[in-house]
This record gives sequence, C-alpha cells and structure tokens, in this order.
Amino acid sequence: MSIQEKKEDLKTLVEKLNFKEKVERSKAIIQQAYEKYGDSLVVANSLGKDSVVVWDLAKRVDPKIRGFIVTTRYKPAETIKFMKSEVERYPELKVYKNDTEIPERLYETDPDKCCDLLKVIPVRQAVEEMGVKCWVTGLRCTEGRTRTDFEETEERDAGLIKLNPILIWKEREVWQYLALCGVKVNQLYAEGYRSLGCEPCTKITVDDNERAGRWIGTSKCGGECGIHTRPLTDGDGI
Ligand code: SF4
Repeated sequence: MSIQEKKEDLKTLVEKLNFKEKVERSKAIIQQAYEKYGDSLVVANSLGKDSVVVWDLAKRVDPKIRGFIVTTRYKPAETIKFMKSEVERYPELKVYKNDTEIPERLYETDPDKCCDLLKVIPVRQAVEEMGVKCWVTGLRCTEGRTRTDFEETEERDAGLIKLNPILIWKEREVWQYLALCGVKVNQLYAEGYRSLGCEPCTKITVDDNERAGRWIGTSKCGGECGIHTRPLTDGDGI
C-alpha cells in the first residue's frame, strides 16, 4: 500500500474494516510517511480524543516523532492542565499561541476572524518554524458534515502533505483504542463533551452530530476553525 496510491472508496472502508484492521492501516500510513519525510513529519496534537489517538499511534511508529499543540487564551482550565501534563511527558511537543491583542468577544462578533488569528496563524507558524513537510492530523470523516471531503493523504497546500491516518475511524473505535491502549484523555470528556475547543465556543449536546456543540448560536455552528480549510503556507494552496 503506497500512501500516494490509495484510491479506495473511504465510505466503504469505514464500514468494511474492523477495529484491528483500521489500527494497522493507520499505523502503516504513518510509518510509510515517516520513512519518506523523516523528521519533517510532525503531528498536530489538538489534545482532543482523536489527536491523542494519532499521537499514540505515531509514538508506536517511532518515539522520536515530533508534534505541536496550538493553544489559545480561551482554552478551558482542564485543557490547559491536560496540555501541561502531556508536554511534561513528551517534551517533543511544541506549544504555539498567538497573544496578539484582539477585540473583546471577537468569538461572538466574528468567530471566523477569531479562529484565524488564534488558531490558523499559530499553525502556520508551527509549519514554518518546525520545517514541516508532512503534518499529521486526527481528522475523521464520520465526525460531522464538514469532514466528509477529505482523503487519507492530501496536498491542499503546495509542498505540504497532510496525513489523516484515522480518517475512516468511527467515534466508537476512537474510544475503543483509548480504552484498550490506556491512553489518557482530557477530563472534560467525563463531563459529557464529545468535541473539545475553546471554552466560549464549546457546549455539551446530545445531538447525533459529534461536532454539534461547537460554535452554537453562530454562523460557524458545527463547523471548522479553519486549520483544515485555510491555506497554511505562503502559497495560495492548490
Ligand atoms: S474556537 Fe472560539 S474562542 Fe477559540 S479561536 Fe475560535 S472563535 Fe475564538
């Protein structure tokens, strides 16, 4: 299986592969990319359940694999606490944060702008500073309406490969992995959250859509912060 040649119908794979097969496929995707990109392969760790699965998989491929975390002034205290414990355990996780002054409650008046400033810009900075040629994410195609149009290996920005190794995993399989491998998660999941973000923009819901609790009451409801949809390099994308 070459990471450049996977053309299978992802929806079929979501249903067809069992848990073990998905874990092996995901590890193989990371392994092959790591062989090709070496130290310029870097994991984007949002500290959410999907990211910590990908981080754990990457560490099994090679403990030397590096990662970055983007944090903001609005992250919940539990997330900051979890971030500190992860960084202490894995010093190869570099933290990026944009402390620039922004209008008060920008997350209400213009959440796209707020995410652009506080999330997308630090990701761009990480990509540049860490010399990233291949970034690895925890994106999953079953996660919500905005996440169906992705591939396991993509090049949305010219020269920057994006790897989505658990793209075909279901939410249940994420929790299976976390339980079976004893991976630590943010305590907010115990409160009932299913998708975590900044405190003002994240609510607990019982909606079927996993991301329904994100940006409730705004035009961005259930949507994206922009790191998966906006250009991450100086180019115009491809
Ligand atoms: S999630 Fe909300 S607070 Fe966080 S950067 Fe986006 S709009 Fe701002």
